[in-house]
Amino acid sequence: MISFAFTAEQQDFRAELLRFARTELAPKYIERAAAADFAWDAHRQLAKLGVLGIGLPEEYGGTGPADPVTLGLATETLAQGDINVAAGPIYVGLVAAQIAEHGQPSLARKWVPRMIAGEEMVAIAVTEPSAGSDVSNLRTEARAVDGGWRITGEKIAISHAMNAGAALVYAREPGTSGYAGISCFLVPLDAEGVTRSHTIGMGALPLGWGGLSFEEVFVPADHLVGERGRGFAGAMSHFDFSRPAIGLACLGAAQASLDEAIAWSQQREAFGRPIAAFQGVSFPIAESATLLEAARWLCYRSLWARESGEQHTHLAAMCKWWPPQVAKDAIEAALVTHGNLGYSAETPLQQRYRDVMSYLIGDGTAAIQKRIIATTLIGKVAAR
Ligand SMILES: Cc1cc2nc3c(=O)[nH]c(=O)nc-3n(C[C@H](O)[C@H](O)[C@H](O)COP(=O)(O)OP(=O)(O)OC[C@H]3O[C@@H](n4cnc5c(N)ncnc54)[C@H](O)[C@@H]3O)c2cc1C
Repeated sequence: MISFAFTAEQQDFRAELLRFARTELAPKYIERAAAADFAWDAHRQLAKLGVLGIGLPEEYGGTGPADPVTLGLATETLAQGDINVAAGPIYVGLVAAQIAEHGQPSLARKWVPRMIAGEEMVAIAVTEPSAGSDVSNLRTEARAVDGGWRITGEKIAISHAMNAGAALVYAREPGTSGYAGISCFLVPLDAEGVTRSHTIGMGALPLGWGGLSFEEVFVPADHLVGERGRGFAGAMSHFDFSRPAIGLACLGAAQASLDEAIAWSQQREAFGRPIAAFQGVSFPIAESATLLEAARWLCYRSLWARESGEQHTHLAAMCKWWPPQVAKDAIEAALVTHGNLGYSAETPLQQRYRDVMSYLIGDGTAAIQKRIIATTLIGKVAAR
């Protein structure tokens, strides 16, 4: 029998996080979103609530075995209050899992407990000025030297570039091309030769988006994460977690917008009756509710497949292109339901719209996700 029920423990956890999202996060969402500073206080509160350690090894302060459904539930729920704060557990889940799984124990012991405690962020730096969707074309160079590596190159559009203590940097050995020769290194961002530059986006400001430049930066040999020359091998499986989690965060923000649209449609009057009486208002609400429900279960289906050990790369890619689009459209519809008020910077609708937009591009556009789905279903011919 198919069951769409969460466990009693998951439901209690969700109720606790929803209370937190509504009472602690939502009231200051607009204020936090306007400041280009990472919300460390809110992030540390997530650590206290036990959100940042979900599915990470117990020896580093986590809850133990991978638990993607609970982590997805947490991000969806928190995003009802503040999608930027809700992104924190996704980054920690994505990056800390890679370090714990593929990094040297000494490296994991240094960074993972601090990430779980909400004291440190580690960015993930792939994108470059001439290599975004086509990551196999990246140019940042890692040269083997005595005792380690020297890294030189430029990364752009990196979340947490401004507030992370370190970054997982993808770089290739000289003379290599394509995916071959690309390795992943944990680079402390206070190392000599690193410079950061802030980029202001249309939303998601607290995520400290920006560029990272590396000029002959030395990293010791034990800062290699995963196998030499196979940098993406360890990362790809973790993107299969972060994609549905991103989808759910977008849907959480959209659900809050839909709830507000429903309440406003009952309260606001025009032509002598509540605007909910007009199908021009109630049908978009019905359509958004339908699409959010469908997109939500797609995400949980993908996370459940991951938990069950089923092949889920194509499902994860579906979750990264469709739910963010559905969420953006639902927020736009809710904004219009609110009339002039929806456009006002005093309501969270326009802010959610701008924040959710970031996920239509970050971690790969819809076109790239469809390419992954097509390749999984059809074969390599679809990747041309
Ligand atoms: C808010 C935000 C946060 C981000 N955070 C990070 C981060 O933390 N770390 C990181 O490394 N990067 C990050 N990025 C960068 C992001 O991953 C890239 O922007 C994205 O992968 C697209 O690359 P690009 O911008 O170079 O666009 P391009 O690769 O230049 O693509 C431009 C357009 O061409 C289309 N296109 C390209 N190739 C194909 C194809 N084969 N078929 C069909 N269409 C195609 C794309 O869909 C897109 O519409 C972030 C971006 C944003 C906006």
